Amino acid sequence: MSDEQEPPRDLNVGILALQGAFAEHQVMLKKLNLRHRIVIILVRTQEDLAKCDALIIPGGESTTIALLARLAGLLDPLHEFKKTKPIWGTCAGAILLAESVENAKKGGQELLNAISISITRNGWGSQIESFEAPLEVEGLRESERPFHGIFIRAPVILSLNTSLTGEPIQIISRISTGLLPSSQTVVPTDEDDTDPRDPRTIVALKQGRHLLTTFHPELTKDNRFHEYFVTQCVIPSLRDHA
Ligand code: GLN
Repeated sequence: MSDEQEPPRDLNVGILALQGAFAEHQVMLKKLNLRHRIVIILVRTQEDLAKCDALIIPGGESTTIALLARLAGLLDPLHEFKKTKPIWGTCAGAILLAESVENAKKGGQELLNAISISITRNGWGSQIESFEAPLEVEGLRESERPFHGIFIRAPVILSLNTSLTGEPIQIISRISTGLLPSSQTVVPTDEDDTDPRDPRTIVALKQGRHLLTTFHPELTKDNRFHEYFVTQCVIPSLRDHA
């Protein structure tokens, strides 16, 4: 059944609200104009999480978010959540979704291992840690119109790894190398025959029900990424569990 034929329903979308740009995500979700009603849940406890059909983990500081999640008793419930429900991580949230992280906090930092990638924190270097760039994004509404990517001490994807679940990774956006901070040299590699380009140029991807962006769609006025998450991850996942 296509979405058009389904009766409208309530979608309970949680936003992890421990630290970072959770309020900005809330504003963006409120602006969505879909057939289904979005019920926004600011998640701070296990009880909040239990009400959610999907979760957004905002940008902020991944080490702090992970620590606060542990203190709130949310880490184990989040590990369970990821097995059946969609999670979208933006920037710091993307780090939390990864399988492994470089440049982690001393002593290590906890990850949810929901998407089989390796990532490095603050990967675009200390010289220019923040920059903005227009992005082409596959599958976005009006995809010919570039999405304004805001990168703030952004993580960088180092490798796409094989997932235990066998879910393929779908690359939905790459930054063109000419738009990177000038201190960065991203060279094409020949390691992967199917896509020989450097994984560090990947800035948005989807694996199964989960979505990851290394930039901050919540800091723009453009809610097409929020719409993408709801229509491409949340609704299909609810349909699978219906
Ligand atoms: N550098 C931050 C971290 O490691 C992420 C920055 C951000 O979310 N804007 O968590």
